[in-house]
Amino acid sequence: MTPDSEVSRVMSSLFGDIRAQQQHQASVVSPMPKWVICHRCDGDGAHSHHLGVVDPEDCSPEEWDDYMAGGHDRPCECCGGTGKLAAGGHA
Ligand SMILES: [Zn+2]
Repeated sequence: MTPDSEVSRVMSSLFGDIRAQQQHQASVVSPMPKWVICHRCDGDGAHSHHLGVVDPEDCSPEEWDDYMAGGHDRPCECCGGTGKLAAGGHA
């Protein structure tokens, strides 16, 4: 008693609903939060501010190279190492 056309009509109706729902959700989802570059690490996600001012005169060339290469960097506590902050502030 259920013709194929009825089945396909129901099926397309169901899938049509799903598609409409997905489109609806896509339009409802808030846009990606705007990010601002972390002021602490300038977007690097790590910094060596804990070292203070490093004078190359106080370092061996190897230490200085390592410092310049970021070898002494620590993950930025301000942005959690992502280098960016949500413009609206952290939740
Ligand atoms: Zn940071």
